Amino acid sequence: MKQLSEKLLEELVEDSLPYASEGKVRPVIPYYDETKKDILGVTIWTGDHCYHAGEQGMYVPMQSTAKIVTLMLALNDFGKDRVFEMVGMEPMGDFFNSISQLEKHNIDKPFNPMVNAGAIATSALIKGGNVEERFERYMDFMKKITGNPDLVMSEDVYKAEQANGARNRSLAYFMQSTGAMIMDPEEALDFYFRTNAVMMCTDDFARVGYFLANGGREPETNKRLIPPDHLRTVKSIMLTSGMYNSSGQFAVEAGFPLKSGVSGTIIGAVPGRMGIGIVAPAIDNKGNSTAGGALVKSLSQALNLNMFGVT
Ligand code: GLN
Repeated sequence: MKQLSEKLLEELVEDSLPYASEGKVRPVIPYYDETKKDILGVTIWTGDHCYHAGEQGMYVPMQSTAKIVTLMLALNDFGKDRVFEMVGMEPMGDFFNSISQLEKHNIDKPFNPMVNAGAIATSALIKGGNVEERFERYMDFMKKITGNPDLVMSEDVYKAEQANGARNRSLAYFMQSTGAMIMDPEEALDFYFRTNAVMMCTDDFARVGYFLANGGREPETNKRLIPPDHLRTVKSIMLTSGMYNSSGQFAVEAGFPLKSGVSGTIIGAVPGRMGIGIVAPAIDNKGNSTAGGALVKSLSQALNLNMFGVT
């Protein structure tokens, strides 16, 4: 096992960066184009030390990494039984925005909260009188868990999510037809789009990972913001579904909970050890960062991060 240092991190970043050429930058995200393709940045936060390598300080939208925060809030608001009445916990084994999987197998709820349909159904469970109140609660929670009071949503990204939201709308309205969507679909979608548009950098992503890895404690006060059994639920579902239809491969090759977003972000939570935040915008056809995924796997090997045993 190697010792974690910025020098090691720089080496792993350099080795992983060539994988960016295997991916594509998602063009519907504002400010995202091919000039962002060869970027890879990482922060590792261990609670008492912060390690950086590669590109730093670039703010990108959370996209699907928001799904883990929405799930945490829903579990806090309604508890496990109610949440999993509305959404399943099984891996879907298909693309993150699959609509055909909603109709198959006669299921009346989406597969899990890490795929689009599941996250939109979970969005309908967040408490608040209207979308503004519900999103304010989301932002308060985000600011607490990252320790960053300056986090904001990008209006441009929010507008782009709305403008390119046909697939997500069809998922929401389909779920309304089966009873899986318990509020006005537009309200749930509005919350979902806003969460996807919150801008963060690798430091913030690493803090979210550390929050999950370290008992759900607010960094400022050390107060628990979510009970340990909810955290365990979130991390288990991240392990089985956080990397969509590559989750099995990442469970084997990395062996700890991860969540990706189409902005090329990855949040990693190594229980009891560290939070990992990665930004590398080029993604594969499953929606996972190619260079970021390579870095996660090499980090796991170098630092023996696999929860299921050392190699
Ligand atoms: N905004 C994207 C969507 O809803 C997020 C998907 C993702 O990051 N995988 O389709």
